[in-house]
Amino acid sequence: MTEQRHRVFSGARPTGRQHLGNYLGAIRNYVALQDDYDCIYCVVDLHALTTLSDTDKLRTWTYEMTLDWLAAGIDPDRGTILFVQSHVPQVVELHLLLSMVTPLGWLTRLPTFKEKVRQQPDNVNYGLVGYPVLMAADITLYKADTVPVGVDQAPHLEFTREIVRRFNRLFGDVLVEPQAKYTEFTKVLGIDGKQKMSKSLNNHIEIASPPEEIQGRVMQMMTDPARRYRSDPGHPEVCNVYSLHKFFSADEVGQIEHDCRNAGIGCVQCKRKLAQNIADYFAPFRERRAEWDAHPDDVWDVLADGARRASAIAEETITAVKDAIGLPERR
Ligand code: ADP
Repeated sequence: MTEQRHRVFSGARPTGRQHLGNYLGAIRNYVALQDDYDCIYCVVDLHALTTLSDTDKLRTWTYEMTLDWLAAGIDPDRGTILFVQSHVPQVVELHLLLSMVTPLGWLTRLPTFKEKVRQQPDNVNYGLVGYPVLMAADITLYKADTVPVGVDQAPHLEFTREIVRRFNRLFGDVLVEPQAKYTEFTKVLGIDGKQKMSKSLNNHIEIASPPEEIQGRVMQMMTDPARRYRSDPGHPEVCNVYSLHKFFSADEVGQIEHDCRNAGIGCVQCKRKLAQNIADYFAPFRERRAEWDAHPDDVWDVLADGARRASAIAEETITAVKDAIGLPERR
């Protein structure tokens, strides 16, 4: 008998074309998890509404992000469910029901909420404070028992677990309490070499970029500030170009480190090599992306099929939840 596989849920807001940070920090892990888990990946467009002002971009950005995910190897043919959060409206229902068992103090005390209040003092909306409840609804609606998290996101998942425990104490053992699956935390810095790579800071490199664009961005990257002249020895441990080489130039990284420390290679040459290796790494990805992009209907069909499969699970959960609470049944 084959053992039942554990079920993973993870979501990301539709931010359009994905960058190296998204790829190294999330997507490649999503792809790998498919080997051992039943995976549900969600474009969380409703979550985007809590902070996003340009809602006119949601459709395009959902499409672009889905293209990147599919081309990177997220594969519905392997059983993975890939869908858009708002296409399965039961999540909104569950969000409301869970909000009834969530003390407001739990939400307003969260450091992430306080940070958002600082970031957008003029838009502290009801949805913003309820963000973690919506996240709990996402995870529990699909009965996921495993959620991949970096150590930095662990408190969020702990919050979901607390809501689940509280709900189950009140109404019986209905919701699955998810476990964290700690993933290696990779923080990719932007081309400024200082801040986290992020589209909003415009310090990013898109994985779908053609080679000449990758080269253009890589050539702008900050390197070791102490290395002023070509003849100065470099310090790879403080250089962001080197940290990307570690991933994209695995075969030659030892040589690059040696040459940098001994001023055997200049920063310009070192960056050219990196740009080439990034472009080569993503060459098959760019081809698969172009194939998908030639048939946009197929991309939307994948999402529609994902929503159908996700709905079936959602319907089971929401029925069980309403029944446990004691809401009157509809005849
Ligand atoms: P979200 O707010 O939904 O996390 P982001 O676009 O910020 O949306 O990130 C999507 C995923 O990519 C997240 O899992 C995040 O950790 C990862 N990610 C984003 N930027 C970086 C980065 N610079 N380094 C590592 N991982 C990143």
